[in-house]
Amino acid sequence: MLNNEELVNEVASYKGDTKKRFDAALAALLALAWSYRDQIGENFSFSANPVLYEQALAICRELSDRCSEDAHKRLIRLVEDSLDYADEDVAWEQTGDGIESFDMAGSHLLELLAVWISVAIQNSWTQNYTKVMISRYLANPFLCPEWKEIPLDTLAWGKGYARNILEQLTLIGQGLIIGGGRYAEWVDEQAKGATYYIRRRGSNYDCDVCEGLANVPIPIEVPFEYSHARCMCYPEFHYEPMPL
Ligand SMILES: [Zn+2]
Repeated sequence: MLNNEELVNEVASYKGDTKKRFDAALAALLALAWSYRDQIGENFSFSANPVLYEQALAICRELSDRCSEDAHKRLIRLVEDSLDYADEDVAWEQTGDGIESFDMAGSHLLELLAVWISVAIQNSWTQNYTKVMISRYLANPFLCPEWKEIPLDTLAWGKGYARNILEQLTLIGQGLIIGGGRYAEWVDEQAKGATYYIRRRGSNYDCDVCEGLANVPIPIEVPFEYSHARCMCYPEFHYEPMPL
């Protein structure tokens, strides 16, 4: 069985480290944008200048790579520490490296920052004040009073565009850790002779999907379907014949 306390710790400290990585990338992107700000002007976008765009993408790719590596490292540690029969490489292959999703979050970050920089230019904000405002309104920039002129559909939210990019990076990585870990655990329990499992809720997060899947016996042959980092559902394994 996965050590649940260890899983919770890895997921929590991944979150803390992702915040640090995100803040560093944000500061680097802002400093970079600032050096092109006057040249590009009020309708700022990173792609307006090819050299700027290439440098900005490099910062985002670095952020993706570090997030993916961090999740991988934590998954390996978790599987090695608590499972006997599962292979951590197989678990990682099962989840994928998440790079595509992390990159997507990075490109959303560039779109979001471009709007922030336009707002900063219009309001004559300093670089530091802009950073403060971005952090303050990270969960929803449209709540920032200076965003009142920005059309609501500018960022295409609801079409795979998460409002909070830090939260998105966090959930992607946590998904890799939990998903890979649960998969490895399922392999391990099969090898140990488990016959069925019951899916239990690991949090009281309001989720109809997980609520609907919980508390019924599932034959061991059916892989544990991991779904949400916020729900933290987990399998309770059984070794006697499955009840009818
Ligand atoms: Zn859920």
